[in-house]
Amino acid sequence: VKELGMPESATVTTCAYCGVGCTFRAEMKGEQLVRMVPWKDGKANRGHSCVKGRFAWGYANHQERILNPMIRASIDEPWREVSWDEALTHAASELKRIQAKYGRLSIGGITSSRCTNEETFLVQKLVRAGFGNNNVDTCARVCRSPTGYGLKTTFGTSAGTQDFESVEQADVIMVIGANPTDGHPVFASRMKQRLRQGAKLIVVDPRRIDIVHTPHIDAAHHLPLRPGTNVAVLTAMAHVVVTEGLADEAFIRERCDWDEYREWAAFVGDPKHSPETLAPVTLVDPQELRAAARLYATGGNGAIYYGLGVTEHSQGSSTVMAIANLAMATGNIGREGVGVNPLRGQNNVQGSCDMGSFPHEYSGYRHVSDDATRRLFETDWGVALDPEPGLRIPNMLDAAVDGVFKALYIQGEDILQSDPNTRHVAAGLAAMECVIVHDLFLNETANYAHIFLPGSTFLEKNGTFTNAERRIQPVRKVMAPMNGLEDWEVTQGLANALGLGWSYTHPSEIMDEIARLTPTFAGVSFAKLDELGSIQWPCNDAAPEGSPVMHIGGFVRGKGHFVVTDYVPTDEKTGPRYPLLLTTGRILSQYNVGAQTRRTANTVWHPEDLLEMHPHDAEERGLKTGDWAKLASRSGETTLRVLVTDRVAPGVTYTTFHHPATQANVVTTEYSDWATNCPEYKVTAVQVAPSNGP
Ligand code: SF4
Repeated sequence: VKELGMPESATVTTCAYCGVGCTFRAEMKGEQLVRMVPWKDGKANRGHSCVKGRFAWGYANHQERILNPMIRASIDEPWREVSWDEALTHAASELKRIQAKYGRLSIGGITSSRCTNEETFLVQKLVRAGFGNNNVDTCARVCRSPTGYGLKTTFGTSAGTQDFESVEQADVIMVIGANPTDGHPVFASRMKQRLRQGAKLIVVDPRRIDIVHTPHIDAAHHLPLRPGTNVAVLTAMAHVVVTEGLADEAFIRERCDWDEYREWAAFVGDPKHSPETLAPVTLVDPQELRAAARLYATGGNGAIYYGLGVTEHSQGSSTVMAIANLAMATGNIGREGVGVNPLRGQNNVQGSCDMGSFPHEYSGYRHVSDDATRRLFETDWGVALDPEPGLRIPNMLDAAVDGVFKALYIQGEDILQSDPNTRHVAAGLAAMECVIVHDLFLNETANYAHIFLPGSTFLEKNGTFTNAERRIQPVRKVMAPMNGLEDWEVTQGLANALGLGWSYTHPSEIMDEIARLTPTFAGVSFAKLDELGSIQWPCNDAAPEGSPVMHIGGFVRGKGHFVVTDYVPTDEKTGPRYPLLLTTGRILSQYNVGAQTRRTANTVWHPEDLLEMHPHDAEERGLKTGDWAKLASRSGETTLRVLVTDRVAPGVTYTTFHHPATQANVVTTEYSDWATNCPEYKVTAVQVAPSNGP
């Protein structure tokens, strides 16, 4: 503002960085954005923001931004700038050629949790109606798909049960596999405020994350479990609840299937599931675990908040269901102050899942094999749809390596940097004949692309994002798209080049279609969003202004469903060659693979990924803070600087994945969640050794 002068106009929009969904006033002088001011009426942030959101516009006019479409015949050739018309016609012709040669199922698309609901809905429609198959997936595959599976199975729908405000009624807050201070900073402030008022805190995490001890907050219990043993810890907590008579049987009889509960209670109540018996597995002090379980069950309103430390495991879906079991067994669901709350990472991961981006589900989580639902979409779209679920991202890559999957349209995701086992991802991409990357920058995946379609930032488009509390919020165009088109227009252009004849003139018309076809969005429209500011789905005749808290008086599926979740150790084992366990996470100033934050002032706060090591492990290897170290696993190796800290337990190492120079996912494994294929990013057996640097 100092340099550019006072703003002349302002537009209220939603931050595009994380699942908190803070509202900002974007202030302009002429065509230049001069500052982002947190909006006092924002329901998710009430006038607050974090440092990341404050600078969320720096990357929009970064010099590396690509503004013209480009094509090349092979990945060894230089890019050639072309018109939008030529790029889209060429993309459509390549997709048609490949389908004619290799079959209907040989192509697919990937949507992004960074994009709006409307853009995401169009990509899945393009794949289903235009490609003629269900080979569509979303980057939620690699983070939140177990939440979808676990919460739908137990409660009936894939969503957090509470609004953020509910935390103000919580008496006991259990944080498991999440680091709210870094991952969800503005909501973390609200949580900390409640803790300073006296609510008790339980933290289940291999690291001593910031919230365990922070000014005026000391966690009642920190359970520093061995990475990969979430299910064992939750089973031991359930054991205490059941065997010490702490279950809320009145709630269970009224709201859940009693016979299922009995079966589950017999399972967790078995002596082999006591905290003491499981301690050699979990490495958690049994007395501490018992005390934590008693506190959660008897301390008043118990609210659980969880993150990717729950989902990104070979038992991710089991862990989500184990959490749901614990909440149901203690009656901590269906009112203010309690619940099961996934702290969603990306700005629109809830929305991208809601919009039917999964290969087995239409919008609103309805299976593609359901005849009535499919007929509804077929009638509206005027095409026959495939009743068979399509390929997930890892299956697409496997099929590409096997030579039967040949083309991929990727909107807003850098799978080469973000997905596990980089070498396998690269092999899959290299085996395809047409990779279409639709993004802001020439990201790592674009190294394997044949067609590059420039994307638009959240400042250059209209639409909606849905945050972690199911809150649908407007994204409003602050400036004209620098590349000439909003992302939904690019997808529409590709659809029309394929002959689909779409004629949307504004994203509000896409939302009208979503509402027409999706019962949980039936009452949502841009006009109502302008009137109310935001809406939490479900929003329909039963709840015309939305639903802050879910499952009041009954679960979406009817009776709450207890699922026996047996602890199964991951196949990723430590041994003499790889004796340490690596787990990964994020830092406040950076956002995921850093495509945006690395191109803003944020870089100065966190210019590289660091490897956290316990002093004992570091000393054993002759390493100290600032030294270079080689990090090696069975999948690959990379080089990072060391940070010696007792925040991690002996035997555990930790790093972030924000910088392509590190490529942390070179070392992660091919193991994934049994139900959803969500990669097991959080457990990798590694060795660390001194190095001279990269
Ligand atoms: Fe943006 Fe999340 Fe920070 Fe809010 S907490 S300003 S949504 S990054």
